[in-house]
Amino acid sequence: MSGEESMPDEEQKQSEEEEEMIRKRTLAMRKKVEEIMRNGAGLVRESNGLPKAGADYELYNSYPTFNTFMKRSEQRLNALMNKVTKSIGCAMRVPDVGSSVEHYTECVIEAQDNIAERAATLHEALKKAELDEIVKVPEFITKAAPTNRKTEAEVSAAMRTFSANIGTVLAEKFRERREEAAQMVVLEKPQKTYNISSDNSQAPFSSKLTVKHHAIEKRTGIVLHDDDESGRRDWISAETETEEEHPYIAEILHFKVPEAQLKSAECLKFTALKDTPLTMIDTKEKLEALTKTLNSVKEFAVDLEHHQMRSYLGLTCLIQISTRDEDFIIDPFPIWDHVGMLNEPFANPRILKVFHGSDSDVLWLQRDYGVHVVNLFDTYVAMKKLKYPKFSLAYLTLRFADVVLDKQYQLADWRARPLRNAMINYAREDTHYLLYSYDMLREQLLKQDTKDLANVYSESSDLCIKVYKKPVFNPKGYLTEIKFRFTLNTRQDYALTHLFKWRDVVARAEDESPHFVLPNHMMLSLSETLPRDVGGIYACCNPLPYFVKQRTGDILKIIVEARDVKLEKVGLSAKERNDAQEARGVMNDTMDHITSVLKSKIDFSHTRFDEERGEIYIDKTDEGMDIELKDHKESLLSVLQTAEIPSVETMIVVEKGKKSDNQKVKKLLNELDKFVTPFECYQMMMITKEKQEEEERKEAERKKLEEGDLPKTMFSHHDAPINRKPEFDAKLLNVDTLKLVPDDPNKPKDPEPSPMEESSSEPQIFDPSRFTDDQLLSKKAMKRKRDAARRNIDVSVVLGESSSSSDPKKKKSDDDAPVEDFDYEKADSSAFEKPVRDNNADFDPFHQKYRLKNKTKKNMAMKKSSNRQGTINYKK
Ligand code: AMP
Ligand code: MN
Ligand code: ZN
Repeated sequence: MSGEESMPDEEQKQSEEEEEMIRKRTLAMRKKVEEIMRNGAGLVRESNGLPKAGADYELYNSYPTFNTFMKRSEQRLNALMNKVTKSIGCAMRVPDVGSSVEHYTECVIEAQDNIAERAATLHEALKKAELDEIVKVPEFITKAAPTNRKTEAEVSAAMRTFSANIGTVLAEKFRERREEAAQMVVLEKPQKTYNISSDNSQAPFSSKLTVKHHAIEKRTGIVLHDDDESGRRDWISAETETEEEHPYIAEILHFKVPEAQLKSAECLKFTALKDTPLTMIDTKEKLEALTKTLNSVKEFAVDLEHHQMRSYLGLTCLIQISTRDEDFIIDPFPIWDHVGMLNEPFANPRILKVFHGSDSDVLWLQRDYGVHVVNLFDTYVAMKKLKYPKFSLAYLTLRFADVVLDKQYQLADWRARPLRNAMINYAREDTHYLLYSYDMLREQLLKQDTKDLANVYSESSDLCIKVYKKPVFNPKGYLTEIKFRFTLNTRQDYALTHLFKWRDVVARAEDESPHFVLPNHMMLSLSETLPRDVGGIYACCNPLPYFVKQRTGDILKIIVEARDVKLEKVGLSAKERNDAQEARGVMNDTMDHITSVLKSKIDFSHTRFDEERGEIYIDKTDEGMDIELKDHKESLLSVLQTAEIPSVETMIVVEKGKKSDNQKVKKLLNELDKFVTPFECYQMMMITKEKQEEEERKEAERKKLEEGDLPKTMFSHHDAPINRKPEFDAKLLNVDTLKLVPDDPNKPKDPEPSPMEESSSEPQIFDPSRFTDDQLLSKKAMKRKRDAARRNIDVSVVLGESSSSSDPKKKKSDDDAPVEDFDYEKADSSAFEKPVRDNNADFDPFHQKYRLKNKTKKNMAMKKSSNRQGTINYKK
C-alpha cells in the first residue's frame, strides 16, 4: 500500500493504463465467449433437427449425399476438437474417425472434465488476486440446456450472474452424468419382471375401465350435439355403441368449466424443490393414499414418461403428479393393475388437471390403466393461444419459473430401475412448476381476451375426447412409413411386402416395436438387394437385430420366394432413373480401383449397382451370359500375374470435383464386363491374400524372435492383423470343392474328389489354363464360389497394395493435413463387414469378435458400444 502511494505519477499512470487494458481485453473476451455460446446453442438446435439413431438415421445414411456430408462433418469436427483442445492446453484423447458415439462421448466428457478442472484452478487464482468478479457465470450455463435457447432479451434476462466456482460445478456435473450413463442399462424387460401383459392382437382395443367414477346421471331428454351425420345423437346410445367409443364421451361433451377456473385469481408461486416433499408411489397402499389426496385437491399437474422401442404398443414408465404443496412420482410397474384407481380424481370434472402437450399422455393413460381425463387445461394449447415464440415446456418453465429444464433425459430409457436421482429430479421438474405456469397463463389469457381462456378449455376437452385405438396393420403401410427412394420391381416389392408383414407378426408375438425387430432401412436394404444367402442377409443388417439373427430362416425364405416372382421390368421415367442413380451413388461417384475390380458381370450385390433393375442390362434368361470366359491375356488376372497392377489413376473415370462423364463410365463398365468374371475376382483376391499371408508369416516369425512368445487367446482391433488371421483353409470358405493351394503330398487326400480337385493337381496355382469350361460352367458351383469369394474379398488388402505400389505418398496420413483432402469415397465400409473365417467356435464372424462367455464389465461395455442403434440387449 505504502509502496503504491510513493509510486511516481508516471509509473502509477502506466499501471492504471495497463489495468484498463486488461479490463477491456477481458470484456472483449467475455463478449466473444457469449457469442460462441449463442452460436453453439444454435448449432445444437440445428443438429437436433438431423435424423437420429433409432429414428431413421440409418435410412438417411444410405443416401450418398447425406452419408458423405456426415462423414466429412465428422472428420472436420474431429480435427477441430483436436485443434481447440490443444490450443487451450487441454489436449484431448481424440477418437479415431468412425468411432462409436459412446466412445466420442467418453472422450468429450474426459476433455470437459480436464477443462473444467483447469477452469477451476484459474478461477481460484483469480479469486486470490481478487479479480474473480470479472468472471461472471450465467446460471443457465451450469444448468446446461442447450436445446432450449432463448431470444436475445431472454438471454440477458437469464444472465443472472453469480460468481460460483464454475469449474467445480461443471466437473461435478459431468462426472455425475457419466456415472449415470454407465448404470442405465435395462437387463430384463419390465413386461417380464412385473408380468405386465399386453393384448397385441389385431382385435380392437377394449377399455380397461373397471369402475366408472363420476358418471353423469342417466337422465332422459338430454340431447348432445355431435359431428355425427344425424347432427344429433342421444348420449346413452353413444355410450353403448361400440367398444371404441370413449367411455366418458358424454361426460366430456357435457363438461362445464367450473366458474372458479374462469376467473382471475392470485398466482400461487411454487415452493422451491428442496422445500417440497416428494413421495415415491410404488405400492397399492401408497397409491390409495395418493388417490385420496388427489380427490381432495382443487387442481394438480400431471406428466408421463413413456417407452416404445421394446414394446409393441408402448409402455408408460412413470407418472409424475404435482399438487400445490407436494410432488409425487408413481412407478407404475409393480402396481400396474391398480393404477386404474386414479381414474377417480382424473375423471372428476370438479378437479382441474394441468398437462403440457397432453395428446399422447391422455391416450397412454387410457391404454395402460383405463384412466380418463375430464377437466383438462393443456398449457401447450394455452401457449399457442397466446402466440408465444415457442411452445415447449422448457420455454414455459424458463419464462415463469426462471428455471432451465434439462431436457437431456426426455429420451432416456425410462424403464430403468432403480430410478437414478437425476432422472427422478428431471421427471419431478416436469410437473413441479406447471401449476404456477398455469396460473400465469390463465391471467394472460384473461387479459388478452375473455373468450381465449374458454377456448383453451374447449380445445383441451377435444384432447380428452380422443379415444385410444390400437394401430391397425396396413399391409401396404410401408408406402407411407418408408420414404421411397425409387420404385421397386416385382421381386423387391414382394420381399418388402412380406418382410413388413413378418416383422409385424414377430413384434406382436414378442412384444417389441416393429422397428426393433427390423429397422426400416434394413428392411429396405434386404428388399433391394435380395441377398442370396445368410451372409448376404447379415451384410444388409448391421448391427444385426436380435430377431433377424434368431429367425434368419424366415427372412431367407421370403427372399427366396421373392426371387421366384416373375420379374416385370419397371419402366422408369428420366427423373426416377436419375433418383435411382443418385440413391445408388453410381454415376456421381469416383469409380476407383476397388469398385472396378469388385464389379462383376453376374453379381452386383456387393457393388453399388442395382442388379435387379440396374443400368446395365442383364438378360437373365440367357444361360450363356452367366459365365463368359475371355481370353486370359485380356483378363485382369493376367495383369496381376505379371505383378503389374493397373494404377489407380487409370481406373478413375470420374475425378473428384469434376462432372461425371457418362459416356466414359459406360465404356469402362462395358470393358470391365468383358474381362472380369467373378471367379477372376476371386482369384485376384486369393493372390493378394496369399501375398499378404506370406508377409504376415514372416512378420510373425520376426516378432516371435523379438518379443518372445506369449500366447494370446482374445484379440481386439488393436492387435496387429497378424494375430487374428487364421491359416487360410479353403474348406472354411464353404466352397466344398475348391482347392487353390496344391495338395501337400504328405497330406491324405480328401475322400470326395470333385471337378475342382481334379484340376488342382497342376502345380501352378494361377495358370490361366485352369479356367476350362469344365471348371466354370457349373452354374451352381459358380454361385457358391462367387458367394464365398464375395464374402472374403479383402478390400482393404487390395486397396492398400495398389495404392502403395502406385503412390506411396498417399498412404502416409498426416495429423495436421487439411481435413477436406480426404477422399471419402475410398473409405469403403464393406471392408469392415467382411466376415472372418475362423474355426474357433467362439468367434462370432458377423460381429468380428469373440462371443462373450463371462460377462465382465468390460465385455458388457463392448457389447453396448457395438450397438449403434442405442437399443438394449436383454438376457433372454
Ligand atoms: P415429456 O412430456 O417431454 O416428458 O415426454 C414424455 C415422453 O414422450 C418421453 O418419455 C418420451 O418417451 C416421449 N418423447 C418426448 N419427446 C420425444 C421426442 N422428441 N421423440 C420421441 N419421443 C419423445
Ligand atoms: Mn409430457
Ligand atoms: Zn415428462
